[in-house]
Amino acid sequence: MAHVDEKIEGMYQEVLKRNPGETEFHQAVLEVLECLGPVVVKHPEYLERKIIERICEPERQIIFRVPWQDDKGIVHINRGFRVEFNSSLGPYKGGLRFHPSVYLGIIKFLGFEQIFKNSLTGLPIGGGKGGSDFDPKGKSDDEVMRFCQSFMTELYRHLGEHTDVPAGDIGVGGREIGYMFGQYKRITNRYEPGVLTGKGLTWGGSLVRTEATGYGATFFVNEMLKARKDSFDGKICTVSGSGNVAIYTIEKIHQLGGKCVACSDSNGVIYDEKGLDLNLIKQLKEVERRRIEEYVKTHKHAKYIAKGNIWEIPCQVAMPSATQNEISGKDAATLVKNGCIAVGEGANMPTTPEGIKVFLEAKIAYGPGKAANAGGVATSALEMQQNAGRDSWSFEYTEKKLEDIMINIHRNCYETAEEYGAPGNYVLGANICGFIKVANAMVAHGLI
Ligand code: GLU
Repeated sequence: MAHVDEKIEGMYQEVLKRNPGETEFHQAVLEVLECLGPVVVKHPEYLERKIIERICEPERQIIFRVPWQDDKGIVHINRGFRVEFNSSLGPYKGGLRFHPSVYLGIIKFLGFEQIFKNSLTGLPIGGGKGGSDFDPKGKSDDEVMRFCQSFMTELYRHLGEHTDVPAGDIGVGGREIGYMFGQYKRITNRYEPGVLTGKGLTWGGSLVRTEATGYGATFFVNEMLKARKDSFDGKICTVSGSGNVAIYTIEKIHQLGGKCVACSDSNGVIYDEKGLDLNLIKQLKEVERRRIEEYVKTHKHAKYIAKGNIWEIPCQVAMPSATQNEISGKDAATLVKNGCIAVGEGANMPTTPEGIKVFLEAKIAYGPGKAANAGGVATSALEMQQNAGRDSWSFEYTEKKLEDIMINIHRNCYETAEEYGAPGNYVLGANICGFIKVANAMVAHGLI
């Protein structure tokens, strides 16, 4: 990647100064700003209207107390966040993350990436993100419900189908969305399906939303492979994580003819040379909420590597689908050395800047998260469309729409990279293409 252009360097320094300690946010901003040098040469109006400075400052940031009681009656206090980053293209849209690592810097990096990701989908959605440092792991259903109710009791006043529409992310799935939807409905006395996405199928949810992030990321990699006259057929793949994104990435890889041999959780790695048994993983993770380690109890031929590093397992396609900064520079070098030819990011910002440099220099097909994993939020926008029309579409129809969206995102990133003299560089393509659409809308809306 290029260095930050001198016209932009000062803006980055200002971001560092104004947002001390928020290292993930700094990282996400730097990755975008590094790509914008040639853009401001073509568009001096962006400098004049201070578009970059404005885009780096959220429109609104909400931080609130979330008190709740556990099953023993003990009181706990967590912190809730919603960062409404940019509404140039539509209502704020982005997930909620419940994880102990959550603090403002994590929500801001996610919200910032979401602006450009949502722009890339081509659908009318702005960027936002929220969450809490609450840890759902090991909590009972009732505890999760009480937490979600308390969280929504504050958040509801900031939401609305035309204002801000949250969804899931790490630690927030169908169960949590259900509890939050119930509390929103109770407080407002409105049955307003368009206020949250990722809902259950009988109360306003969309088919394919559960599968969308993983399916979409795999479609994106498929397009990158096609652009190189290659395909998933017979490819050995590894997918980190074992949550919603990982599960449906593995499913689509298998449907497209690839063989996924490894996945992981925060405790360790499962390696199954014969190809992962996805039904067992779904049973363990989606139904029983257990650890991935249990896989080897029934599949004795497979290996469980406690505290293992999944990137040391040789593969041709790697799809990081766990969390931010999970691929270091060293991991990236190991992947390339072992013959990896494509990386598609199901997670948000899973590759460190050092890792990205390795992938770009090796000229492998590297699909950054804001392009590759945009299928999740795109299908959320399709859910909003169905809600607005009081409609529900078939699985086949919705999946075809998702696939077309991913094909389009790939084409736009590919062509933008060529236009800016960096063929094959999807980082540059995604950042420039996502940015320009938002910047033009901001110019059109005036100084707000
Ligand atoms: N959390 C997902 C993402 O990172 C989905 C957001 C949504 O559906 O609004 O894009």
